[in-house]
Amino acid sequence: MAEIGLRISPSEALTIVEAGRHVKFGLAYFEGNLTMAFYKYPQALAHSSSLAFDHVSHPGTGTPHSGIYRCVGCGINAASVEGHPLPPQNHHQHSATQGAIRWQLIVATH
Ligand SMILES: [Zn+2]
Repeated sequence: MAEIGLRISPSEALTIVEAGRHVKFGLAYFEGNLTMAFYKYPQALAHSSSLAFDHVSHPGTGTPHSGIYRCVGCGINAASVEGHPLPPQNHHQHSATQGAIRWQLIVATH
C-alpha cells in the first residue's frame, strides 16, 4: 500500500482569499503528484449522486453551485460561491498536456 504524503508549500498555504471571493486551499499531493482534497470528519460530509458533480465548467463563468471545485487538468482545488465567477484562466499554470483549466464540483456547500 502506497504511503500518503501531505505537502503544503508556504506560498500555497491555506485560505488565500482573492478578489472575487475565491479561496485557494493548501495543496495536498499524493505520490505521483496527484492533488486531492482532504477531510477529517466523515460525519460532516454526505454522499450525493447529483448530476451537478458531473458538470465541467469553463474558468471565469458563473459558479453553478457553491462549493469546492477541482481542476480537471491538474487537480488543484478552489472554493467558489454561487453567483460569483469561477477562478479565471490565469488562476494557475498548466503544461501543454494538461489542456485548459476546467472546473468540476467535488464538494457542494449551501
Ligand atoms: Zn489546473
